[in-house]
Amino acid sequence: MDDYCSVVASDCIARNPAEPEFHQAVQEVIESLSKVIDHRPEYRKAKILERLVEPERVIIFRVPWQDDAGEIHINRGFRVQMNSALGPYKGGLRFHPSVNIGILKFLAFEQVFKNSLTTLPLGGGKGGSDFDPKGKSDNEVMHFCQSFMTELARQIGPDTDVPAGDIGVGGREIGYMFGQYKRLRNEFSGVLTGKGLGWGGSLIRPEATGYGAVYFASEMLATIDTTLEGKTCLVSGSGNVAQYTVDKINQLGGKVVTLSDSSGYIYDESGVSPDKLAYVMELKNIRRGRIAEYAAVYPEAVYVPVDPTLNYNPLWGHKADCAFPSATQNEINEIDAQHLVDNGILMIAEGANMPTVPAGQTLFIHHKVLFAPGKAANAGGVAVSGLEMSQNSMRLGWTREEVDDRLRIIMKAIHHACRDAATAYSEPTNYVDGANIAGFLKVADAMMDQGLV
Ligand code: NDP
Repeated sequence: MDDYCSVVASDCIARNPAEPEFHQAVQEVIESLSKVIDHRPEYRKAKILERLVEPERVIIFRVPWQDDAGEIHINRGFRVQMNSALGPYKGGLRFHPSVNIGILKFLAFEQVFKNSLTTLPLGGGKGGSDFDPKGKSDNEVMHFCQSFMTELARQIGPDTDVPAGDIGVGGREIGYMFGQYKRLRNEFSGVLTGKGLGWGGSLIRPEATGYGAVYFASEMLATIDTTLEGKTCLVSGSGNVAQYTVDKINQLGGKVVTLSDSSGYIYDESGVSPDKLAYVMELKNIRRGRIAEYAAVYPEAVYVPVDPTLNYNPLWGHKADCAFPSATQNEINEIDAQHLVDNGILMIAEGANMPTVPAGQTLFIHHKVLFAPGKAANAGGVAVSGLEMSQNSMRLGWTREEVDDRLRIIMKAIHHACRDAATAYSEPTNYVDGANIAGFLKVADAMMDQGLV
């Protein structure tokens, strides 16, 4: 990294203490951008990098709510409005006990580049709460969502900031939040995406992130003249992204042998077939159970609980051709990455945001593994959210085929943009540099055009 870029990164770290995930995301991006910044002195003069790492606005608020037993709870709510150079802020809401401002700043920062890559007019943001929906009744989740939205409603709007789901926020939570926004504003608008199909949602939105990651993976595999047909795949997580990743891999003739949640993982050598996936969807989306139950129903599968004494995740130690980490950040550490490389992994497409630690990324790139970072591979979710916004504005709904075709075209275009930028400024197969640089250039040029704001 050149001196100027190192100083921007270290100043950002000093100004944002105790936010390691944000530091990690900023360092990775700035390292890639150091390859382009010397060619564009005007960015340096306009302090584009310094502005990019400073959120336009951060909102933190109290979320009081009452449980079914009448006890009062206080959670913390957040919205990080990172960058609006390309359009209204757009990015998910995460409800998970680990949520804090540093994690949301990392996610909002990543979202800026990801949204730019989609080719749609979307700025970047992210929000959420340290509320844990696990074990809560529907009524408790509704009360929480209503209290959360009562405050958030002041900060968002269809032309200002349009949140969506993320970990812990699915169709149920979006429904409760949308209902409360509508009631407060007396307005039926496209203020959230991931809505129900009967009231403004888009076909293919639930599928979009997983499907998009697999479309991106197929594009990468095509560069080495192969496909997913017959490939063995490791998938982590068992939520929205993981489920539709499995669905699309099955459709394309691949075989998924793992799924996980925060308690452990299952290994099913015979593959998570479509009927087994239907069971997982019912287990996770309706009964809200644990992945351990899979092995009880399908005895050919083995369940491995999380072992806190291990410094690696044995899920990544299984031999496979492709991997789709789809749970959470930093779930592949350096040892896991080494296991994947030792087992001859061909391709990794990140469904989750930043699931691989920096040393793991370096290892994959060094060993010429086809490696797609989350901001490229999982951009299908926000892309179809963008298409949901378009349909809401037009008061029209597109068919499943139309949305899926657009998603496929967008993922192909993102792949192309990453390869082009990587070829121009780095190595053609370095998708990390490619995604960071291609995402950055569009945002930086818009910021230049819009003056010092
Ligand atoms: P869900 O809440 O639907 O599922 C998350 C899954 O990951 C669950 O299986 C969950 O297990 C597991 N998980 C969460 N946290 C941890 C943890 N700390 N350790 C181990 N497992 C964990 O979320 P999504 O599928 O929507 O999101 C998954 C990832 O994809 C996230 O990184 C998210 O930011 C990213 N993403 C999501 C998009 C979307 O459209 N939904 C778009 C782009 C990226 P458990 O139930 O035990 O918590």
